[in-house]
Amino acid sequence: NAEQLKSILNKLDGQKYGTYKQLKGTYQFDRFKLAIDHVQVDPYAPPSKMRIIMNRDTAGIPAELLDSKDKIIAVADFLTRAFGESIKKHKNGAKMNSKNIKILIDRPGEEILERTSVVIGEHELEVRFEVGLPAAGRRILGKAAADIITGILPKIADDSLLYQNLDQKGLEKQVSLVLDQMHIRQVLNQKNLVAFVANGAILPRTSGVSDKPLQGAVPFSSPENLKVQIDLPSGKTVTGMGIAEGITLIVGGGYHGKSTLLQALERGVYNHVPGDGREMVITRSDAAKIRAEDGRNIEKVNISTFINNLPAKKDTHAFSTENASGSTSQAANVIEALESDSSLLLIDEDTSATNFMIRDARMQKLIARDKEPITPFSQKVKPLYDEENVSTILIVGGSGDYFDVADQVLMMDEYRLKDVTDAAKEIAASDADKKGNMSDEKFSEISQRIPLKSGFSKSGKDDRLKAKGRTTIMYGKEPIELAGLEQLVDDSQTNCIAVMIDYLRHNVLDDTLTLSEAVDQVYKHMERNGLDALLPYSGHPGNLARPRKQEFIGALNRYRGFKIKG
Ligand code: ADP
Ligand code: MG
Repeated sequence: NAEQLKSILNKLDGQKYGTYKQLKGTYQFDRFKLAIDHVQVDPYAPPSKMRIIMNRDTAGIPAELLDSKDKIIAVADFLTRAFGESIKKHKNGAKMNSKNIKILIDRPGEEILERTSVVIGEHELEVRFEVGLPAAGRRILGKAAADIITGILPKIADDSLLYQNLDQKGLEKQVSLVLDQMHIRQVLNQKNLVAFVANGAILPRTSGVSDKPLQGAVPFSSPENLKVQIDLPSGKTVTGMGIAEGITLIVGGGYHGKSTLLQALERGVYNHVPGDGREMVITRSDAAKIRAEDGRNIEKVNISTFINNLPAKKDTHAFSTENASGSTSQAANVIEALESDSSLLLIDEDTSATNFMIRDARMQKLIARDKEPITPFSQKVKPLYDEENVSTILIVGGSGDYFDVADQVLMMDEYRLKDVTDAAKEIAASDADKKGNMSDEKFSEISQRIPLKSGFSKSGKDDRLKAKGRTTIMYGKEPIELAGLEQLVDDSQTNCIAVMIDYLRHNVLDDTLTLSEAVDQVYKHMERNGLDALLPYSGHPGNLARPRKQEFIGALNRYRGFKIKG
């Protein structure tokens, strides 16, 4: 129990650091069990992994805050943040040198994601964190360790896990907000909308490196004719812009806030914390940002709807390259998004290949059709909607090529959105050059590729997957670069993708399932058994947060050893 642990730690004082490893095990404290799952081998190694396991009755969080999966995710997120805050408080208030106190828990950003940092089961609540076991040189600081684990830790737990000590209003607010957000996302589907942006939402962020709301920003307000009202489960009513299915073009001068709006929509696939400013910016959960990503690897993707007649007769029905161009990468990104079942594409001119997006009438006159390999997206966006029911929201500020096909044209003017559809349509109708240009385009089949297990057989030490920050996974010595996945928002999502790939290759791939089917099996397993179950062992699973299917598939597509059947 805790007393015994305390005396063991005191006895370890001054001994070789490696002696800490006998701590592995479970200890009964007053209000919880402490599981020490993994002990670091030296003071500089990643800190030791521990769990607090508390009865739900002890924690006392009302059952009505925990009676659905969405609520549990909201509460677990809240407790993770509370535990993190509590660490800070007790570290600063401690009598010992706070430099020696190293207690860490996953740090969520503005999104509320399903995580492994706090897991709430039917009877128990588990907190997963890390402790850097203190040392002087390579000798154990046993008294300090005892103070941290048996002194400070229980206080942190009491403050952040017992309902009586929690910010109860804050907790209820977060749960009710998540339910409201989930409800809006459902309403989108019922009303054939692809996105909703509430009046009053704050879209811009403080800076390129901070995801906090910009102070003094102009709040969002909907064009009058796009206003919708949604009644929320909390009893509130929210008013804002509903973007309908189809093709939505956002235009406007540079620096008027176009990209800021689109970025908010990209993030609207996730729920946000109270105070973020984007709480009521809600997008279809399968929306995919599409960008150019030259240099990426492409493995047998059928991009023929966009690109044909490449020099040297390279076939584009199963196009592969280790070094894609801007346009081929963007074409592949579209097709892969469709393969991962996205019903909404989000495209910004700032991160697009111009020759993929547009080709104006003059250039079409100069260069014969059969000499130009690219059919620009402007000619495919409508067939894509008509045939596949996939909508697009795109920003094109420098060309009117999309006026003909857009269902609505919205203009950003000094951070204020206006509907200019009628004016744009008039211009398009009076422009003789463009007529007939769109006539015969079709989108063509979306092929379902079958991934091969043999793409994932590295030997020995190279056979390990490990995330490095948000944008890289190391597969042995080989990096999988994920910077192109702009909707991957959290380091822990990347950690999770690494273990999901590991699970996929060992337990799912069989050379017959399509990519989408294989990935669905991984999600089914996670849904049934939790994120923990991705790992072949029990105990502290590391910091994992659930990624979307789109990002998981996106990561597989960016792995340079990825092999496709055929
Ligand atoms: P665009 O894509 O139209 O060129 P951006 O979206 O990049 O414009 O925005 C330009 C700048 O304006 C950014 O620094 C952004 O933070 C700021 N901004 C965007 N929307 C608002 C707003 N509603 N209020 C205040 N500043 C904003
Ligand atoms: Mg922009």
